[in-house]
This record gives sequence, structure tokens and C-alpha cells, in this order.
Amino acid sequence: MADALTLDPQWNRDFMGRDPLALLDQVYRRYGPEVILASSFGAEDVVLIDMACQVAAAPEVFCLDTGLLFPETYALIERIVARYPIRYRAVQPRLSLAQQAGEFGPELWARDPAACCGLRKVEPVLRVLDGKRAWITGIRRDQSPTRKNAQLMEWDEAHHLVKVNPLAYWSEEMVWEYIERRGLEYNPLHDENYPSIGCAPCTRAVQPGEPSRAGRWSGFDKTECGLHAD
Ligand code: SF4
Repeated sequence: MADALTLDPQWNRDFMGRDPLALLDQVYRRYGPEVILASSFGAEDVVLIDMACQVAAAPEVFCLDTGLLFPETYALIERIVARYPIRYRAVQPRLSLAQQAGEFGPELWARDPAACCGLRKVEPVLRVLDGKRAWITGIRRDQSPTRKNAQLMEWDEAHHLVKVNPLAYWSEEMVWEYIERRGLEYNPLHDENYPSIGCAPCTRAVQPGEPSRAGRWSGFDKTECGLHAD
């Protein structure tokens, strides 16, 4: 059940149509060190990191480092960590890739991506969110049908804390306008038709006309890694 002390539904009305910076400013004032920003270092995430650093001193940022991210993503993380005063946490799964292969067989992602995401993303995020009161994500409503009802601020029943989606109402064009205007670093794979970038084995470029998340878990009936509701 939502904690009325930490989730203020009025905020969804108050911050509708306003600059996400205003919402982030209030979120950091309210939650302080008990809020953490989730980043897979996609386009929306670099925007949020840039914004968070304008309203908070040394915001805490985590990435689920599955060990299977693209080299371009790891290189971007290095550049972002060097550029911003963030407290960065690379959150690793309990099992190394070798241990996972030993226990479940090679390339689990190719046979059972739900199980692989469970081990390498879902369990680690439970650990990192434990003790927090809010997390910030880069979810946008028009990314996929599963995200079309995202609120600026909502109760995350699965993780029992407040979830803040400052860019919920932004379009892809608004994200890129911000990136260009602020001269932000971004993953070069975006320029090669990868609008959504996750683990290398489960991400492909999209074809013209395909939805932005069509390149994730292509060939499987899976659209989310388990961190956000399907
Ligand atoms: S995205 Fe693919 S490789 Fe990454 S954790 Fe999920 S199934 Fe495994």
C-alpha cells in the first residue's frame, strides 16, 4: 500500500506540463539521500543525470551492470562519471557470467531471457532499492504500450517505494533537443538505429518504421526486463 507520507498524488497535477527540473528539485529536497537515479545510460538517462546535477549535490546513480553491456555503453559510463559529480554504483549480479553458465548452461539469455533478467537485473535492483524511499527512472509514455500510463510520480508496488518518471510526458524529439542544446554525451549506438540499448545479446538495431523498443529481446514475447511493469 502506498505510503501517504511519501507519495503525494497532488504532485502529478502540480508538475504536469512543467520543466522536469522543477519536479526533480522537489524530489531531491523531499527524499535527499533516500532517492536514487536508475540509469542504463540511454538518451533519457543522460538527460536525467544532467538535470539531477543541476538540483542536487552528488546525486546517487546506479546502473545494473550485467556484464553484458555494449563496449560503447561502458565507454559512455566512463565519460559520464568523469564529467559529473555523481556517486555512481555499478550494481552487479550475485553470479558471474561463468557461474551462471555453470549453473544454468551457456547463454541463458538465448533460451530463457526472463530467467536471465531475473538473475542479472531483477534481483540486483531489489538489493539497490532496499532502504530507499524513491527512485527516478527515464520511462516515457510513448516508448511502448506498456509505459503509456506512466505517471510523473507513482507508487511502485513491486519495490515498495515511490517511482518518479520526470520525462513521462516528453517525446523522443524533446529528449534529443535537450541533449543537443546542452551538448551532452550519449551512446553512439543511438546514431546506428539503436533507440533503446540494453545488454548486447538482447539488443538489435531497429528497422525503419519499427517501434523504438522493437530491438529488445527480438524473437521473444518479452518487452520489459522485469524492473518495470509489463
Ligand atoms: S537483457 Fe538479456 S543478457 Fe541482459 S539480463 Fe536480460 S536476458 Fe540477460
